[in-house]
Amino acid sequence: MLVLPALGHAWPIASATIQHLDSKNFGQRWSQVFSNEDANIKLLMQTLSRSKTGTTLLKLASKKANTHTNDLLEHMIKSGAHSASDATIIRKTRNNTSSSASANSDQLKIDYRYSITIDREASIYTATLDLAHELTHFVFRQELNPYSKDFTLKNFITSIIEGPGGEASAYYIECKVWHELFRSQYPNKYLCEELTFSGNSSLKVVASEFYSLGDYYDDFMALISKFGLRPSDFPLIDRHTSPFISAVSDIPYPLAAAKDFIRLWKKSCQNDLKMQISTRGSAQLPQEHFDRCKDLLLGI
Ligand SMILES: [Zn+2]
Repeated sequence: MLVLPALGHAWPIASATIQHLDSKNFGQRWSQVFSNEDANIKLLMQTLSRSKTGTTLLKLASKKANTHTNDLLEHMIKSGAHSASDATIIRKTRNNTSSSASANSDQLKIDYRYSITIDREASIYTATLDLAHELTHFVFRQELNPYSKDFTLKNFITSIIEGPGGEASAYYIECKVWHELFRSQYPNKYLCEELTFSGNSSLKVVASEFYSLGDYYDDFMALISKFGLRPSDFPLIDRHTSPFISAVSDIPYPLAAAKDFIRLWKKSCQNDLKMQISTRGSAQLPQEHFDRCKDLLLGI
């Protein structure tokens, strides 16, 4: 169990260990419980650890944080304008004296730098669920490498919404934590009341919500058609309006994911071009790097 040091603040729990936090305080703004951000983050982690699902999630996340960053999980988490998790792609070039094409393709190494932010305005209740959501992304999401041939619009959108650690599973875990920890005190949480937590069928119910486009349906269809995709490529897409909107871009998730894909795709193609120029062609990027950039040259 995480135990906070006693901190001198005017809050009723200030001198107590976190596990003594009374549930009647769950409505308070999490970022203002203590004046020290580290203590507030530990407060959220401690609250999350009161649920069985949260405890498992924290163990897995701590292990991953330690493996990837050689640091503690709590050092990856910050307060911010909204709750989000981010994986920054870092491409490292290794010096390799061999001139064979296969050896040169090994010169490129992809790494990720992770960060998690939690909405500083949220209550302890909401922020704990947000933390469960973002940790699910962090632990289970398989980031697609924008320099690989698998980095396609269809793969990207599908992975963001219904892939391992995608939006559907993050909300599903959020619902499980709500069910275990908050249900009696906060009986209403959209969709969570309807889930049976029986695996795939519940996940599909959640995924359908994330594929709802409402007024953005036609914009999305116009965009995917530029990439040769059809509505049948996304069977769960519909015109239904859902409250699930990307907090970062304020539009439905499929469209937000498509815009993210285009941004990453353009950036990776520009980087390839820069690398070719700066190494005067000696980097010898694999053919697939150029294949995936040709649509960009054709003006999409
Ligand atoms: Zn999410």
